Amino acid sequence: MTPLPAAGSGATTARAEAAYLGLALGDALGATVEFMTPREIVHHFGVHREIVGGGWLKLRPGQVTDDTSMSLALGEAILANGGSVVPLACAEAFDAWMRRKPVDIGNTVRRNLVAFRQTGVPVAPSSDHDAGNGAAMRVLPVALATLGQSPAAVSAAVQAQAHVTHNNAVSDAVCQFLTLAVQDLLRGCSLAETLSHHLGSLLAVHPELSFRDRPRRENPSGWVVETLQAVLQGLDDGDGFEDCLVDVVNRGGDADTTGAIAGMLAGALHGPQAIPRRWLKALDPGVASQCREQARALLQMAAR
Ligand SMILES: [Mg+2]
Repeated sequence: MTPLPAAGSGATTARAEAAYLGLALGDALGATVEFMTPREIVHHFGVHREIVGGGWLKLRPGQVTDDTSMSLALGEAILANGGSVVPLACAEAFDAWMRRKPVDIGNTVRRNLVAFRQTGVPVAPSSDHDAGNGAAMRVLPVALATLGQSPAAVSAAVQAQAHVTHNNAVSDAVCQFLTLAVQDLLRGCSLAETLSHHLGSLLAVHPELSFRDRPRRENPSGWVVETLQAVLQGLDDGDGFEDCLVDVVNRGGDADTTGAIAGMLAGALHGPQAIPRRWLKALDPGVASQCREQARALLQMAAR
C-alpha cells in the first residue's frame, strides 16, 4: 500500500478546497429545485444543470443556503478555538448565525438553538425524532480540523458539533460515516476503498441505510437516511463531479442538502480540476473565497 499524504500536503489541500467548494456548489445548484419532484424538474428545466438561483427561496444566482453558511460558521468557531470542536463555541456560532436571519433554517436546528438560548446548555436533548440531515450537512469543517487524529478523537469531535442541534443515533452514524469518508477521499483513497473501509460497520448497525440494493431514491426528504441513500447512489453511479451533482439534485426533494453533501464528497474525490468553470464563475465570490480560505486554515491547524 502506498503511504498516504500528510494533512498539509499540496494534493490534500487542493482536494480539501474542492470539497468545500463542492459543498457550496451543490447547495447553490440544488436550492433551485428544492422541494420539486423529478417530474416538475423535467417540466421546468429538462435536466437542471446550471447555477441560476430562484427556487422557493428566490435566491440570487450563486447564492447558498444554510448547508454552506452553517458549515462556515462552524469552521470559524473551530478556528477560533485552536482547532478544537467545543460544544459551547459551536452553539454560540450557530446562535449568532441564526440572529443574522439566514435565508433558510431547519426546524430541528431552530428548535434546539432556541432551547440553547433559554438554557445555555449546548447539547440538544436526545430524541428519536431528530434524524434530520441538519447535522450531517455541516460535517466538513470537523473532518478537516481532525484529519490525522485518532478515531476516538474524530468521533468525539463529530458528536460535539452534531449534538448541538441533533442528538440522535442515526444522525450520529451518518455524521461519523461522512466525516471518515471525506477524510479518506482527502488522503487520496478511491471511492471503492473508502466505501470498503466504512460502509460495512455503518450498515451492520443501521441496515436501513443500505443504498445499492434499493430503487433509485427520488424526492429524498430531510430524513438523513433518504439523504445518504440519494447521495451515495449518485456518487456510486455518477461519472465525475458534474455528473454526480446533476444526478443527485435532479432527484428533487431536499436537493440543496443532497447536493451539498454529494458536492463535498465528489469534490474530495475528483479534486479541483473536475469542477466546472462555469459553476465556479456563478458561485457567490465571497462564499467561494471563504470556502477556500477556511479549508486551508483548518487543514493547517490539523497538521500541527
Ligand atoms: Mg439548505
